[in-house]
Amino acid sequence: MKNDPIRRLLEAELKEVEAKYRKVFNNANDMIGLNLMGENGLPGKFIDINKIGIERLGYSYDEFLDMTPADIIAPDKRSEIAGNAIELSKKGHATFEIIHQTKSGKRIPVEVNNHLFELDGKKIALAISRDITERKKAEKALKKSNENLELKVKERTSELEEVIIELKNSNEELEQFAHVASHDLREPLRMITSFLQLLEKRYKDQLDDDAYEFIEFAVDGAKRLDNMINDLLEYSQVKSMVREFVQVDTEKVLDDTLLNLKVPIDENNAIITHDPLPKIIGDNEMLMQLFQNLISNSIKYRSDNKSLKVHISAREEENQYCFSVKDNGIGISSDHLECIFTIFQRLHTNEEYKGTGIGLAIAQKIVHQFGGQIWAESEKGEGSIFYFTIPNR
Ligand code: ADP
Repeated sequence: MKNDPIRRLLEAELKEVEAKYRKVFNNANDMIGLNLMGENGLPGKFIDINKIGIERLGYSYDEFLDMTPADIIAPDKRSEIAGNAIELSKKGHATFEIIHQTKSGKRIPVEVNNHLFELDGKKIALAISRDITERKKAEKALKKSNENLELKVKERTSELEEVIIELKNSNEELEQFAHVASHDLREPLRMITSFLQLLEKRYKDQLDDDAYEFIEFAVDGAKRLDNMINDLLEYSQVKSMVREFVQVDTEKVLDDTLLNLKVPIDENNAIITHDPLPKIIGDNEMLMQLFQNLISNSIKYRSDNKSLKVHISAREEENQYCFSVKDNGIGISSDHLECIFTIFQRLHTNEEYKGTGIGLAIAQKIVHQFGGQIWAESEKGEGSIFYFTIPNR
């Protein structure tokens, strides 16, 4: 029988298959081990191990055959074996991370892919262990850099919070200062005006024309100063106008504003039109003041040679409404489009156009209170468009 040619052929074929399997087994990049499952449900002794397993852990093939997986797991991780074995028995497969320890004591983090299968009626556990040292290093570095980043963000946030508090305090101080200063400045100013008037009355007969003119200039200057102080007071009070924001029908606010401006509108035959306007979350009084400042400017800075037209519209954008007030007035040169929003900045003398240069500063402060932006586009001689946005809350 032993020399049976068919049997010899089969044995040779089997050897060839076995050699192929070994080659694959030994050339795998991961450690592959086979263990017989013990009666206690834990993987028992190794029945096979590939080349990389031997090289990685430093035990000989024969030493492996006398060891169980517990012998290659770092002592502090051995308590995890039972849990992993239960999962393996339950599902027939289990994937977990653990730490292997080499014969010389080096720790190697691995990801183990375990599968159960039956061979000749015996339960066998197949374990493929991938060395994840590099991955763990990268994870650790990532974690560290994330922690550093978080720390930096925390530091920056607290720095920013401090700056915000400082800014808030200095803003409040500034507003208080403007408020107190405007009150206190008015008293001596009133004194100057009344004594100048007294001078004019008492010494009427002794004063020549020049003296009268000088007194007039002085009184006029005092009046202008009084107006500016008044405006400063108004500017400093914008913030105290803010109450809880409520729903505001901007079309209704515009109608009320136009009613307030009826006299100058009629006097100048202004044609004021508007598109349908939205409801926003804001404050009636502040919005009315904003419309009033912009529309009264359109009336004040009208062109002499055209009939005055003002158009108000609003369009909905992603997170906000963008309103516009467009006129066909004298326009503003592009160099001045930004400075006009600065307090007391004017492009004209008081003789040309009366005013103190506070209207747009107040308009800007109101828009900022709403959390929006304000800007202007214009062509000199053609007209201006003032835009402002209000967040769509
Ligand atoms: P005031 O009108 O008192 O000067 P504002 O702050 O309202 O103060 O305006 C600042 C400047 O911006 C004005 O002096 C004027 O030159 C310019 N301006 C504002 N609105 C208009 C407008 N609609 N058309 C042309 N110029 C304007």
